[in-house]
Amino acid sequence: MIYTILLYSWIGLAILLFPILLRITAPYGRHTKSTWGPLVSNRWGWVIMELPALLIFPILFFVGDGPKTYVTWLFLGLWLLHYTNRTLVFPLRTRTKGKKMPLTIVLMAICFNGMNGYLNGYYMGFMADYGESYLADPRMMIGFAIFAVGLLINWQSDAILLNLRKPGETGYKIPKKGLFRYISCPNHLGEIIEWAGFAVMTWSLPTLSFALWTAVNLIPRALDHHRWYRKKFPDYPKERKAIIPFLW
Ligand code: NDP
Repeated sequence: MIYTILLYSWIGLAILLFPILLRITAPYGRHTKSTWGPLVSNRWGWVIMELPALLIFPILFFVGDGPKTYVTWLFLGLWLLHYTNRTLVFPLRTRTKGKKMPLTIVLMAICFNGMNGYLNGYYMGFMADYGESYLADPRMMIGFAIFAVGLLINWQSDAILLNLRKPGETGYKIPKKGLFRYISCPNHLGEIIEWAGFAVMTWSLPTLSFALWTAVNLIPRALDHHRWYRKKFPDYPKERKAIIPFLW
């Protein structure tokens, strides 16, 4: 009962927040502002703020008394694949030596990842009931394909960005490879596609809530990045869109 109330409130909060986030620029990375309070190391901030999602989901999965099948193990594996990269690999690859982010952002992200890890981990550990035959279900196959495409776009685009700087550099350049030819933020688009695929694959409300939150977090950020690129670089490609090729 408490779980259901939390889940619906969480979805409601995402819908309420979207128009607000469209007006606020999240102050981390290129948009970091000291007016948001004390600053902490960018790299360690990433590790700490993503850790709840990496830990809480598997803990609840293992503690939960729901049936464990190849299907639920696969879902756990995909979650760990994404969050091991995001929590431990991505921050170590960033070339952001000496850069900071507001502690407020870290605390807000801990709350987000804690709640998201809880809602999805509790569902997968205690409530989910996928028989082995679900592996051949069209939702599983189509969702998996969407997830895989999203993950590859996200990883490729993150890699392109991280390789723009030579060791020791901290400035910004115009990315020109991969999907950056069409949009300013394919890393964000990839992540949105990824969790939309996960929601299709798992066909559940908690995973849908995560897909929704990802879009609510990342569409405003992509629009902010796009405006920032256009302002910063007079030679920024005019035809490039923010997050959806040829459209937006
Ligand atoms: P950004 O695109 O802002 O930055 C990614 C990394 O690349 C940072 O290290 C950044 O450095 C560097 N970088 C970015 N652009 C340039 C450039 N033009 N020249 C040189 N270096 C550059 O990504 P985010 O920080 O927004 O997100 C990182 C990852 O986390 C993404 O894959 C995103 O999808 C994911 N994410 C997921 C969320 C979710 O709700 N699921 C929420 C937020 C992020 P610097 O830090 O110095 O700017």
